[in-house]
This record gives sequence, structure tokens and C-alpha cells, in this order.
Amino acid sequence: MTQERAADELLTRLRSFHSDYFPRHQQRFQDLVAQGQHPKTLFIGCSDSRLVPYLLTGTGPGELFIVRNVGAFVPPYDGSHGHHGTTAAIEFAVLSLAVERIVVCGHSHCGAIRACYEGAPEEAVNLQRWLKLADEALLPVRPCPEALRRTEERAVVLQLERLMGYPMVRRRVEAGELTLHGWHYVIEEGEIHVFDAQSGDFVPATRSPHAGTGPYRHYVEHDGQVLCD
Ligand SMILES: [Zn+2]
Repeated sequence: MTQERAADELLTRLRSFHSDYFPRHQQRFQDLVAQGQHPKTLFIGCSDSRLVPYLLTGTGPGELFIVRNVGAFVPPYDGSHGHHGTTAAIEFAVLSLAVERIVVCGHSHCGAIRACYEGAPEEAVNLQRWLKLADEALLPVRPCPEALRRTEERAVVLQLERLMGYPMVRRRVEAGELTLHGWHYVIEEGEIHVFDAQSGDFVPATRSPHAGTGPYRHYVEHDGQVLCD
């Protein structure tokens, strides 16, 4: 009975999308069908339900190519971590969509990062293996709130570094055609903290002069502009 009610509620929402939202944005969707999608941003975010990329970035249909997974991790390009949709999405976004930005977005109170310290359920063998992608970001301390937050930030930077191991990413970053952005979303503050490659710090977006420019400082000017040469 409960399940039936839950299913009905979902159906109500589907119908209201069709009858309320879609008519107001119909032209946009039709243009996106006629002209295809040309998103400028690949957004790699944690699956956490509290992280809502469209709200944070003020974007709508056609603007973000999104791949989400537990922890917002980037597997290595060499395939040593097995098949993964995130790897395929990065290759497609860079080679076929020619995105101009890649955002890696972690967040506060991340269950994935906590699980890296505390472990995952025994039966979750794939999750356990997946969490190893953050091993290098872990700190040799007890997971107090401050250590967890530092680890969440370190994990974001680690994924940016791993992105540079993708030949098509490195090539386009070095050509000045692609920028990498490390973000840490602090849920309780309603604010993204942006990784600043020059200082190595995460700076609240309200104070940061740029939206993040990647881990390789020789491509970053003091004003946050990315050099094309
Ligand atoms: Zn998370």
C-alpha cells in the first residue's frame, strides 16, 4: 500500500512536469533537439541528493553534461580500475562535445569520504573497491569533522590531478582550450568553496576572484585568466 502511494506520488510529479514546466520551456527543448546539445561544462559531482548542480550554477537544460558517482571520484585513464561510466563520460565530453570546463564537485558531510575511514558494509564489495580511489587523499588521523573536511577537499584536488592523466584532457588544458575547476560545496553555508591553484586553498565563491582554474599554476594568471599559450 505504501509502495503504491509512493508510485502515485512519482506519477503526479511526472505529469506536472509535462503539464506545468514543459509548456513554459518547450521552445528551449525543441531547439535542443533540433540543434543537438552543446554543453560547455562537464560536471563531475558526488551522487549525494543534497548537491543540486542546476541550482548551484543557475543552469538549465543543455548546459551541463553531468556524471555523478559516490564521492565524485575520477578513475585513472589506464583502465586499471575496470570499466566505468565516469571514464567514458570524460572521454565523450572532451573528445565529442569539446567542453571548455570540467568541474569536480565534492561537498561537506560526504558519506563517501566518511566511509573511506569507517569502511563500507561487508557485502558492498564494489563500493569498497571504489572508495580506494580516494586513498591518497586520506589523512593519518582519526576522522574528526576537521579531518573529514580536509579530506573532502584533498579528494577534489586528487581527482583534478587524475584528470590530467587523461591524454585528451592534458592536451586541451595545455592548449588553453579547457579549464579544470575543483569545488567543495558547503551545504550548511549554501556556498561553493573554489580551489585556488596558486594558494592551494579552497576559497569561498563570494571572495574568490575566479571559479577555479585547475591544478597547474603556469597556466594561471594572477587575475584567474587561463593563458592560451
Ligand atoms: Zn558525497
